[in-house]
Amino acid sequence: MYVSQRSVPVATRAPGGETNAYLVGATTESSSADEQGRRDSDRNSAILVDPAARTDDLDRLLEDHSIEHLLVTHTHPDHVGAVETYAAETDATVWARYGRTDRFRDATGCDSDRTFTPGTTIPLGDERVRILDAPGHAPDHIALEAGRDGPIICGDCAVREGSVVVGAPEGDMRAYVTTLRRLWAMDPPVLYPGHGPEIDAPRQTLERLLSHRAERERRVLEAVTSGAQSLEEILESAYEKDLSGVRDLARATVVAHLEKLAVEGRVEWDGERAIAAATDDEGD
Ligand SMILES: [Zn+2]
Repeated sequence: MYVSQRSVPVATRAPGGETNAYLVGATTESSSADEQGRRDSDRNSAILVDPAARTDDLDRLLEDHSIEHLLVTHTHPDHVGAVETYAAETDATVWARYGRTDRFRDATGCDSDRTFTPGTTIPLGDERVRILDAPGHAPDHIALEAGRDGPIICGDCAVREGSVVVGAPEGDMRAYVTTLRRLWAMDPPVLYPGHGPEIDAPRQTLERLLSHRAERERRVLEAVTSGAQSLEEILESAYEKDLSGVRDLARATVVAHLEKLAVEGRVEWDGERAIAAATDDEGD
């Protein structure tokens, strides 16, 4: 099994203006020439993931393969742009997450043929791709494990540089942190992200992303305990950098942190104002 990546330009807001489309191909024993007719379709079986746009480059990659399955890591606009096109041009089975088929149709413009749930496996040649639950960045987010203990196509769970957006209402910070820990525990050889270059030291990157979130959470909590109540006040206090252009994302991120802290009983947050939760003094 192998994974090939092509980055494609997308018109919607996306990190770097590009999204990675992936092809997961089955590797099987090479066959003798006279049985090539049948074997060709075996050898070239592939899964197309996140076709965010159609490009010549991506078309060339797909040319040598029989695209049997088509799915997306999540249905954000910067991941779905060419789903309808490739669904129409290939015989692929189009998959959507169970319970999210309406969302899938709204985002992609096409109906799904089948649904998956976390744990679903899709056979490919002699191997299989497994669907993993990976919520946080988006509620319908999944990741794909290509072969047993193989590389993981992780969509917008991780990036090699910087961080991904986990902002309310779409994002869930508690779920996101759990997803990062789960990926860390799986310890894949490589992570293939939705944007930017492959992550060849997954645990190191996941640890960086976890500590980035922990640090931001610490600052949000500190802002609230030192008296900041409104979103704007907390934002000013929890971020030092110039937020022009990304202020809306930063605000959504702060809300996601506040929602997490509220669920954990560390702040009270009513959607407008936050106050520090009364804490019991923990003796030891
Ligand atoms: Zn996204």
